[in-house]
Amino acid sequence: MSDRQRFGSAPLLANDDTDELDRLRHPDEARAIVLRHVRRLATELVPIGEAAWRVLADDLIATEDQPPFAAATMDGFAVIADDGSPWREVIGDQTAGFVLDVQVTDGTAVRITTGAPIPAGATAVVRVEETEMADDHVIVHQEHIAPGENIRQIGADLQRGKRVLPAGTPLGPAELGLVAGLGLNPVPVAGRPRVSIVSTGDELVEPGATVAPGQIRDANRFSLIAAVQSAGAEIVWSGKAPDTREPLRRLLAERIAESDVVLTSGGVSMGQLDLVKALLGELATVHFRRVFMKPGKPLNFATAGPTLFFGLPGNPVSALVSFEIFIRPALHQMMGRLDIDRPRTPVVLAQATLASDRIEYQRATVTVGPDGRLTGAITGPQASSRLASFIGANALLVIPPRSSPFGEGEVVDALLLAPPVTPHVPASGAETSQVQP
Ligand code: AMP
Ligand code: MG
Repeated sequence: MSDRQRFGSAPLLANDDTDELDRLRHPDEARAIVLRHVRRLATELVPIGEAAWRVLADDLIATEDQPPFAAATMDGFAVIADDGSPWREVIGDQTAGFVLDVQVTDGTAVRITTGAPIPAGATAVVRVEETEMADDHVIVHQEHIAPGENIRQIGADLQRGKRVLPAGTPLGPAELGLVAGLGLNPVPVAGRPRVSIVSTGDELVEPGATVAPGQIRDANRFSLIAAVQSAGAEIVWSGKAPDTREPLRRLLAERIAESDVVLTSGGVSMGQLDLVKALLGELATVHFRRVFMKPGKPLNFATAGPTLFFGLPGNPVSALVSFEIFIRPALHQMMGRLDIDRPRTPVVLAQATLASDRIEYQRATVTVGPDGRLTGAITGPQASSRLASFIGANALLVIPPRSSPFGEGEVVDALLLAPPVTPHVPASGAETSQVQP
């Protein structure tokens, strides 16, 4: 089935349909094109010790009740709740890890520790604080003991057969603990996208090299490495390439063959050495070349078989903003993650801003006010070359296209890259702290 048949009105793109490829697309349209070319990666089985932060590939179903036996939630004495005896004979010690062979009856008690199984016959646990020992007897000072008191019943935490985690969940601390508690090892996880990063540009030198006049250090490769790793993907290759047709062609062809995702930076604008754009038409099926957004307009997206190819603009901010809007969601979707997008929330603008004819993503710090309202303050000048505009930014403000400027106090959406910041007056030390979004 062709794309046109499958997606109805979606135009069938050919690499030579230049007008359609260069049409300025709304970011939502571009994103939809990217996401419909994403394929789920195959499931891998990994030892549980290597499963942290991987994405669970199958639903986690409880194969047993937890706890599997009724257990004490306090240190104390296992008794019969409605036993009226003035004192009770201590007939044993039940600590965790085995089952004592006794029967609690009226007038008897078993000393028990938290997590230990409730002995036969006992219906409650009296906390040790409510008791007093006298020789081999215990006197209970608590007046009313409710049946079931301080007992965690079978299946109180997890019930056998119930779904504990859906497929697509990243395995963080609690999730991995649940997996371990249910004894699942190895763990089925989504394969990690294999990503190559290619910085293009004759002006680029390695960070450690001496910079000659006209040269700059390659920043994008390293910011993209961090971005890719933060999305849970794996870097299989990274390096830089010259603005020379044949070597660049060979390198890109090789990277396409060996990667799930290829990211390039630079070489996609209108300059005479913007070779990535030119070569993509030969190496892959190009789906779009321009997005109506700021920064990040000259984004090229192509596919070659199952490989996704993103030709990112060279300006460092444009590259990272494009990563957040298009590439992170694609990487997440490749792993079957349920949450492919950053959380989006309305925020109050802390400053006026000029409107533009296209969506603008401004780097900003979102702060929680005393009334709980969120405010977004931009991080200084928003030039697409100024990577420092990402420093201290926990959000991208989404400034919609409009003919009139936005005033301070107007509400726009923000994509949260990190939790909002809560200003508070600490006893000492930092002036801000992170809160959960
Ligand atoms: P280009 O998209 O190749 O025209 O590059 C646009 C701008 O981004 C130019 O000022 C480049 O010097 C700069 N640039 C391109 N690649 C990188 C890189 N890897 N690191 C830092 N800046 C870059
Ligand atoms: Mg360039």
